[in-house]
Amino acid sequence: MAGTVLDAWVARKIGLPEGAPLRREDIESYQLTMLRRTLKTARANSPFYAERLSGIDVETDIMSLEDMRRIPFTTESDLRDSGPAMLCVPQKDVSRIVTLNTSGSEGSPKRIYFTEEDQELTVDFFHHGMKIMTDESDLLLILLSCERPGSVGDLLRQGLARGGTRTITYGPIPRNDDSEDAAVLSLMREMNISSVVGGPVETARLARGGADCAASVRSVLLSTEYVSDENRQTIEECWNCKVFEHYGTTESGLGGAMACHMREGYHPREADLIFEITDPRSGQVLPDGEWGEVVFTTITRRAMPFIRYRIGDVGRWLPEPCGCGSMLKRLDKIGDRAAIKRRP
Ligand SMILES: [Zn+2]
Repeated sequence: MAGTVLDAWVARKIGLPEGAPLRREDIESYQLTMLRRTLKTARANSPFYAERLSGIDVETDIMSLEDMRRIPFTTESDLRDSGPAMLCVPQKDVSRIVTLNTSGSEGSPKRIYFTEEDQELTVDFFHHGMKIMTDESDLLLILLSCERPGSVGDLLRQGLARGGTRTITYGPIPRNDDSEDAAVLSLMREMNISSVVGGPVETARLARGGADCAASVRSVLLSTEYVSDENRQTIEECWNCKVFEHYGTTESGLGGAMACHMREGYHPREADLIFEITDPRSGQVLPDGEWGEVVFTTITRRAMPFIRYRIGDVGRWLPEPCGCGSMLKRLDKIGDRAAIKRRP
């Protein structure tokens, strides 16, 4: 079929009959329904959103996706200051809490709450999204944190297992530890690792030090932080492999948007998230093609929905249809996470 495996996944998630083509209007009508549901649930169950959304009457104010521009933004400060008040379920329904202490920033840590069902959404996304670069013949090395149940590496392992891909969960490699690099490379040689998921800096260092692993490595997924062209090229050249990029944050449910085989930007998981690109000064939504701040709304999360959340990353929509034929929108490569905050 035309398009990516993500299109087939989204079509199923939004309830289209088997084999029906995914149309843009189907995605948007589903997003509107789920957005309205999210707004109602958040207002009814979270003291924070009851107050923040008090000026919005979902029944009359939110009749189209454009109407979501009336909804106030939420910010990282809201999450730091009012996190528990954003919760929409009783504590007993929370299965995982992620605490983020951003280095160098003042104030309370960010705490993000997930129910079991919230985590299942991520596993399901990883299961289908990873088919873009792996299949049952792969042995994939996970260099993301994976020791705790529900950590990103653990959810990725679960998603890949559903697709029949075998994994080795290693965990993150320390930044400046040559002996650890050597241990990882010897594991890669011994096991004939064919696919790697890790941070761009560490993975580029491994590629530089272990060019002989090109014999087995076919694909690499870079996540966790901004991917420089230099790191990307190093990996592609040393390992002669395809490098895919992923964009996600803990707030977006770890998974956010995934490159397709064209590898020009990434397609968001539009059945779970609505992305907007806004002018950080005026808050106005920008036309496709213009760079601005990435804002997203979760439309399927139970524990802690994020409504028009300003993540602080720089992004833009690529206006042309993707060569893969996908009906999903396409985000250009997300810029440096600190860039918006540095602006005057
Ligand atoms: Zn595509």
